[in-house]
Amino acid sequence: MTIEQIIAKIADHYPPADIALIKKAYNFAVKAHDGQKRLTGEPYIQHPLHTAFILAQLNADAPIVAAGLLHDVPEDTKYKLPTIKKLFGEDIAFLVGSVTKLSLISYRGQERYRESLKKMFLAMAKDLRVILIKFADRLHNLRTLEYLPEEKRQRIARETLEIYVPIAGLLGIWHLKWQMEDICFRHLHPHEYQELLQKYEVEKKLELAQYISRAGRELGTALDELKINHEINGRFKHLYSIWQKMNNKQRKFDEIYDVFALRVIVPTSDDCYRTLGVIHSLWKPNNNRFKDYIALPKPNGYQSLHTTVFGEEGRATEFQIRTPQMHEQAQYGVAAYWNYKEGNKYQLTPNLHWTQEILALQKDNPDTQTFIQKLQLDIFNDHLFVLTPRGDVHELPLGATPIDFAYAVHTEIGNKAKGVLINNKIGRLDEILHNNDLVEIIIDKKQAGPDLAWLKFVKTSKAKAAIRQYAHRSALVRLAKLQSLRDWWK
Ligand code: MN
Repeated sequence: MTIEQIIAKIADHYPPADIALIKKAYNFAVKAHDGQKRLTGEPYIQHPLHTAFILAQLNADAPIVAAGLLHDVPEDTKYKLPTIKKLFGEDIAFLVGSVTKLSLISYRGQERYRESLKKMFLAMAKDLRVILIKFADRLHNLRTLEYLPEEKRQRIARETLEIYVPIAGLLGIWHLKWQMEDICFRHLHPHEYQELLQKYEVEKKLELAQYISRAGRELGTALDELKINHEINGRFKHLYSIWQKMNNKQRKFDEIYDVFALRVIVPTSDDCYRTLGVIHSLWKPNNNRFKDYIALPKPNGYQSLHTTVFGEEGRATEFQIRTPQMHEQAQYGVAAYWNYKEGNKYQLTPNLHWTQEILALQKDNPDTQTFIQKLQLDIFNDHLFVLTPRGDVHELPLGATPIDFAYAVHTEIGNKAKGVLINNKIGRLDEILHNNDLVEIIIDKKQAGPDLAWLKFVKTSKAKAAIRQYAHRSALVRLAKLQSLRDWWK
């Protein structure tokens, strides 16, 4: 890797970028790491160069790429943070310092895992750029993992799968997520990896590619007739996600049908819906497998239409339909949100409500263990969207019930919940809600408060906390009543 390659990459997506800054950071990093070598035998500077290149691939701006070049200087060389601040200014010193802090974790075992997860989340809530640099750093370290001793290799692979990968998923950065997953899979389960690689890449992929190109041609002709511009590609699942599916569903490779999808990119969201119509007129849709992530985007902003149809010979075939912008978002997640701001400054401005939630969670739960538990409950889990009769959308974790929904709308609605209408039919308060359910809570204003038995089935920590709080308060009231009763008897 050379600095010229990085400069070319940046100039490609943003010509006025501050190239002088990148050259200056490079020259300083070369000087600082002079004489150091990686375990691969290469000069150390190759590592910051690769880190910077991965950042440039994510369309990061010049200060972030510069921070990527400098990220190991304070920890591994005689030049410390104040020098970086003097030479490169406050912002770059902040980025480099934050990345350095993230890697300093002295805990062991489970404690280590919790602490680093918490650190990552807080860093992320404060400034997403830090996490992106850390991701790029980790991805390059993973690529050279074979040079480390077995034990360390396993630890890093496991830590990556447990901490980095879920966060990359949360941020929607698939481009990094799948690469990390497949490398970790290869190191943690080498035999399964090789076996699947052989079955999938070697034996199956060609056959699938032929099938995909036939289906793509048929759809392409139909779209041409309607004059809808389009690009159709085959999209293969990567090995780790196939392996996960086999494990989760206890299936053999031959029983996993959705190892591929056809991706259709069309100019506007209007075209997406028209394309969906075309697909459904060519092949019979599987009713249960349609998802409209355009009208109801995923929490990380992902948008697309997904549909599975019975294709040639009744073969289940998934289509993902999206615009170029949605595609960019699907690859790079929050990193697709880099926005140009005055001059050559970008700003990362994703609309992520949960960065606020993370900070609030941290404020209310200074203890690491409860912080992580709640985080995993409310933010890490997959979500579903439920609608109020007025069409407001509420986001709930999978497995949520009408009581969770009631508390999500308002604590008083939860406390007074008496019954529920789900899609206009009478439902049960403990039943599990589904995506896009229309939910109307029936309240009883005279109801004293929540039923303690609800604690057995509610999923959100908001509902749990509200019910417990009420129980606590009414226990105090009962105690007080008992007290006054006793006083009366005296
Ligand atoms: Mn590094």
